[in-house]
Amino acid sequence: MKRKLLLGSLLCALALRADADPGATRVARWPGDAQAAFLLMFDDSWPSHFQVAAPELAKRGLTATFYINPGKGEYQKFRGEWESNVWQQGMAYGVHTMTHKGVKDPANADWEIGECARIIRGIAPGTATRLLSYGQPGVGKGAWNITAPQLDELLQKHRLISRPPFTGHGAVYHLKTTAEMLALADQAIAKGGLEYLVIHGVERINPKGSYQDFWALKQDVFLPLLDGLKERRERGALWIADHIAAHQYERERDTAAVQILAATGRTISVRLTCQADPQRYDQPLTLVTSLPAAWRQCRVTQGTNQFCRVTTGQEVRYPAQPNGTPITLEPVD
Ligand SMILES: [Zn+2]
Repeated sequence: MKRKLLLGSLLCALALRADADPGATRVARWPGDAQAAFLLMFDDSWPSHFQVAAPELAKRGLTATFYINPGKGEYQKFRGEWESNVWQQGMAYGVHTMTHKGVKDPANADWEIGECARIIRGIAPGTATRLLSYGQPGVGKGAWNITAPQLDELLQKHRLISRPPFTGHGAVYHLKTTAEMLALADQAIAKGGLEYLVIHGVERINPKGSYQDFWALKQDVFLPLLDGLKERRERGALWIADHIAAHQYERERDTAAVQILAATGRTISVRLTCQADPQRYDQPLTLVTSLPAAWRQCRVTQGTNQFCRVTTGQEVRYPAQPNGTPITLEPVD
């Protein structure tokens, strides 16, 4: 009898603690409630990108943004790889201008930037208005002949978002070892922020060639880097994304609001809104909702999307579309 009473009061205490605020919902800082975000970027459409980088990324379920130059010789020689191979392995493309030779004047810049964006949007499926990442190419002195406001105008016109700067983030150029590169990821994890690495060539071992691509990153640095990123992702520390997905998530998250419409022992209903333009910002956000203690499994429904989630520590996390229909959570008995 005494034992029963003790058990009863213990359960009650647990329930009281977990039930303190059922329905309370926060927007996760990064998808899947990862602690930080990390971006890999590959510049200049080098052959080692489709020969080595993309397959090694895909093998580990990682993605990256490849900043391509469709008017450059290396690209044109292997156009088929870019048109029907690399993106199909889950990789994103960014605008790095057509030729990488600079811009003569505003009209030439419009072609260098706009034509590259048009080609990318034509290769991988997606809406014509979707955002693309823009990586400013490094060119020789006197080869970049438009002003910063003229560039901004072109980025707006072609719906491009500038990636963060190369400074301090270049593999081989600034960062040489796997440890230095993974330290960037660990800094992001410590701060809950975003870090990134810009890579040019990757060492070719197979297929053998008589030369290596520009600033080729050794495979014995590159492959352990990918393994280290994968390990951090698997323990929930990192979200590895392409630049636009990260930009969209940040913009939506920073303007998001959650309204609790109902929170009872049998149902929770929340509404997620955000201020970002839904035509260009359509990433689902991850929500984390506190549940009543008795819920072990939870059915989450938003419009026609429905899925079940096992709850962890009286919380459930799930993807939700901002500005859609309300999201309903119910226990699965
Ligand atoms: Zn470049």
